[in-house]
Amino acid sequence: ARRSSDQSVTLFDEEDALQIRRSVEIEVGIVNGLKQNEFRLVYQPKVDREGKIAGLEALLRWESPSLGNVAPAEFIPIAERAGLIRLISNYVMNQVCCQVRDWLNRYADCPVIALNLSATDIARNDLLQLIDSCCNRYDIAPSYIEFEITETGLIANEALTIHHLDELKARGFNIAIDDFGTGYSSLSKLSHFPAQSVKIDRSFVAQIGYNKKSEMIIKAIISLANILSCHTVAEGVENEAQESFLKEIGCDYFQGYYYYRPLEVSALELLLTEMPAK
Ligand code: C2E
Ligand code: CA
Ligand code: CA
Ligand code: CA
Repeated sequence: ARRSSDQSVTLFDEEDALQIRRSVEIEVGIVNGLKQNEFRLVYQPKVDREGKIAGLEALLRWESPSLGNVAPAEFIPIAERAGLIRLISNYVMNQVCCQVRDWLNRYADCPVIALNLSATDIARNDLLQLIDSCCNRYDIAPSYIEFEITETGLIANEALTIHHLDELKARGFNIAIDDFGTGYSSLSKLSHFPAQSVKIDRSFVAQIGYNKKSEMIIKAIISLANILSCHTVAEGVENEAQESFLKEIGCDYFQGYYYYRPLEVSALELLLTEMPAK
């Protein structure tokens, strides 16, 4: 028993049981949902200093008939623990390449699309095969694809991770370090990862105007990125005050509800039609 009184023991165990049950429902739901087309991607634009769309980030959405909308913050960690993330990543990689192909066929050009990889993805032995075969299937140049990898993901399996990232970079893919500033990695470690950009974590951006320490951390991240010759992208920008602080200290790209929320393909295509036709 984890608690002294009988009553709280019961409560605690019921809660545990509910949580385990939910995890199992989600695990089973993921496997079925991938087969039943319950997953889709939405795309959040990233803008440059002039406000022009400079790229998109693919974000997964799951509408389950039995569980309702389940947030990636809930199902991604469960998928990682259950060994299901590779199925999800196969799906995401395939969808992104398919989308790039479709847009290249119909519009003058296609923005670079970033997709999120988990720590376990970067260390999987068949990662390069998966990526190569998706790009070949849809005849996509690697320069249209970017991989976002969290700092923690980079550290999990260092030797193989660096090897994979070097290979991806050599092929012409773009690499970004996600949630930068939250992973406690050392400068010397970071300098070994062949990233072109770093994404400043939303938790720091949210503190702009309220917390001098967070502001100083953001400045330090931008200096560090300059040393590593990386572009900087601020995540979770929600207002003008955050934008003007970030612009003043030299941030290159911006992403957040202040500009665009993650958009359905149909909404995004209205923006893409503003690009000159092929
Ligand atoms: P992330 O990669 O850090 O993605 C940014 C999250 O912040 C997204 O949440 C996005 O919708 C949200 N966001 C963007 N702008 C703002 C803003 O201005 N304010 C606030 N409050 N939030 C903003 P989302 O889509 O719920 O995804 C959460 C996390 O789930 C992602 O964090 C990522 O770690 C993971 N994830 C999402 N899709 C995938 C995927 O396809 N594969 C993997 N492995 N992970 C994914
Ligand atoms: Ca991301
Ligand atoms: Ca992020
Ligand atoms: Ca995040």
